[in-house]
Amino acid sequence: MTGWIVPRSDTDLAAAATTLFAAEFGVRPDGVWAAPGRVNLIGEHVDYAEGLSLPIALPHSTAVAVRGRGDGRMRLRSGLEPWDGAVADVGPGAPAGWAAYLAGVVWALRRTGLPDSAFGVDAAVASTVPIGAGLSSSAALECALALAVADLSGLPADDAGRAVLASCCVAAENEVALAPTGGMDQAIALRGQAGHALLVDSADGSVAAVPLDLAAHGLTLLVIDTRAPHRLVDGQYAQRRRSVEQAAARLGVPSLRHAVVGDLRRLGDPVLTRRARHVVGEIGRVRETLRLLESGRIRDVGAVLTASHVSLRDDFEVSCPELDSAVDAALAAGALGARMTGGGFGGSAIALVEEGEVDVVAGQVHSSARASGLEFPAFLRLGDGGRAARRIA
Ligand code: ADP
Ligand code: MG
Repeated sequence: MTGWIVPRSDTDLAAAATTLFAAEFGVRPDGVWAAPGRVNLIGEHVDYAEGLSLPIALPHSTAVAVRGRGDGRMRLRSGLEPWDGAVADVGPGAPAGWAAYLAGVVWALRRTGLPDSAFGVDAAVASTVPIGAGLSSSAALECALALAVADLSGLPADDAGRAVLASCCVAAENEVALAPTGGMDQAIALRGQAGHALLVDSADGSVAAVPLDLAAHGLTLLVIDTRAPHRLVDGQYAQRRRSVEQAAARLGVPSLRHAVVGDLRRLGDPVLTRRARHVVGEIGRVRETLRLLESGRIRDVGAVLTASHVSLRDDFEVSCPELDSAVDAALAAGALGARMTGGGFGGSAIALVEEGEVDVVAGQVHSSARASGLEFPAFLRLGDGGRAARRIA
């Protein structure tokens, strides 16, 4: 039996957040805001090489019911440990745990000139985004609150305003939650458009909406949360990043965005060459995907996704048995293409499938995990896709 994680309607999600808020604080919130999780269609491990990526919003969202308060204090609630504190208590590593993602947003917004210097919040969270599955529950949480604070305090929330909010969310994640992350997750959560993927250019932080209507072509994305047990990978991420920067330095270019495959022979070192080959190849695959989407050849994107997986597995070495099993089983069951998505070493995979075959493919992925003695994966459907951060009540 395969397990599906189903999204909830905005109305249901708002009701869940409001119920928790009322139970915790005895009053109604000023409103409820939501932001989506995401998958990255392609463009993996290239953000620190000034590369390109192409995330898509999920229909699964995190909602935050919020009441503004004028005393600079915060009371934060979710299913996890409650946190009460003041904006003045927030800094690197404080608070610890999940509350950092919310407290950090208020802290970062204050730093960039939130008009009411005493601004604080009471907030309660409800979500259908799987946590820690590489589907960016952290950015969904940050971005929902950032938009709430913007609306309640009169900050602009047009695209330019949202770009500022996104950078505050990145600051919260990097500087308070102390999680190294680029800006892709926050960009799609705040600046994505319905029915579009978002081209994120890490060279200058610019974004562009890319039309992507899979359903119109009879296709969908199956998202596979492998639920692989958490591994100690912090060192691995830093190592990959160092290799990529070292390769650029040896080639005498500001980043691997400026390198071509022919240059890589000059690197000498075989490991460095493979790491760089992934990055240069992956940026090329994003461009190829854009060309295919533009010319309506969406089924051909499948092969590009699979090539991305092979590169991440063999050259960049960030896959793991659970991700490989999911990708192999999806392809064997008839998926047009499949790859790990996100940082790797666990987390999620995606498969491009004919809409009518999504249950068959999910069933095969499940059976294959069971046969290999792996954790049973959970599945999400992209459906019509998700919507960027918005007020839902
Ligand atoms: P991902 O973003 O891929 O889900 P991260 O490790 O970046 O994984 O972020 C997960 C963390 O974000 C959780 O450990 C928790 O601290 C916080 N978080 C995300 N969603 C929620 C939620 N709904 N309620 C409480 N905390 C959450
Ligand atoms: Mg995250």
